[in-house]
Amino acid sequence: MSYLTLSHLEKSFGTLRVVKDFNLDVAQGEFISLLGPSGCGKTTVLRMVAGFELPSSGGISIDGKDVTHLRPNQRNIGMVFQAYALFPNLTVAQNVGFGLKVKGAPKDEIAPRVKEMLDLIGLADLGNRYPFQLSGGQQQRVALARALAPKPSVLLLDEPLSALDAKVRVSLRNEIRAIQRELGITTIFVTHDQEEALSMSDRVVVMHEGIADQVGTPFDIYNRPATRFVAGFVGTLN
Ligand code: ADP
Repeated sequence: MSYLTLSHLEKSFGTLRVVKDFNLDVAQGEFISLLGPSGCGKTTVLRMVAGFELPSSGGISIDGKDVTHLRPNQRNIGMVFQAYALFPNLTVAQNVGFGLKVKGAPKDEIAPRVKEMLDLIGLADLGNRYPFQLSGGQQQRVALARALAPKPSVLLLDEPLSALDAKVRVSLRNEIRAIQRELGITTIFVTHDQEEALSMSDRVVVMHEGIADQVGTPFDIYNRPATRFVAGFVGTLN
């Protein structure tokens, strides 16, 4: 059963076709990576799911509901970007509670939910700090907590680890995946790093010039690449 469905998605900017007949069925709770080199259209697919870009054609549905033309705030989606996306003038706790406040949640619901999220990311003691007082890894954990606090139905992660140093990147990979599993939240993760995609995902979509070249488990992508591009990109032709 598909929970998030992308059907024949196309996106052009002027005469440039950046996403071409993109199809994907994501099961509920699945962790999917979009993997490919810079410029292949990964972020554009993610932005269409989020509602920041409208497809030129094709459709998107979540839990059986057509969301193709809904505004971002009508889609119940959480998103984490590369880095530096926290509100600098708000504390950690205020950042995490921001989405709930915007939704009009009552104060006595926001505080316990913020605490629950800070516990989940292991930063229970840092609620009163400001983003500039945190490490890069801690900031990305706060960004994750902020995205998850309003209980989104889908989580979108756009290169959330790429600005971090190697050691933090690896530990945060495991942490993100553990939290994702615990919550059972359907997730799309964009990365150009094949090791990241292969180590974290239930399935990987390898993209090349706007096309999904192959969709498969990490094992299949690595051992049975469907195209020369996939074989080269995941390193087996090197
Ligand atoms: P990736 O995430 O794989 O690096 P993107 O989806 O960001 O790729 O970009 C795919 C292509 O679309 C690139 O050639 C990029 O320059 C182009 N592109 C993305 N957004 C826009 C835009 N708003 N206007 C024009 N071109 C764009």
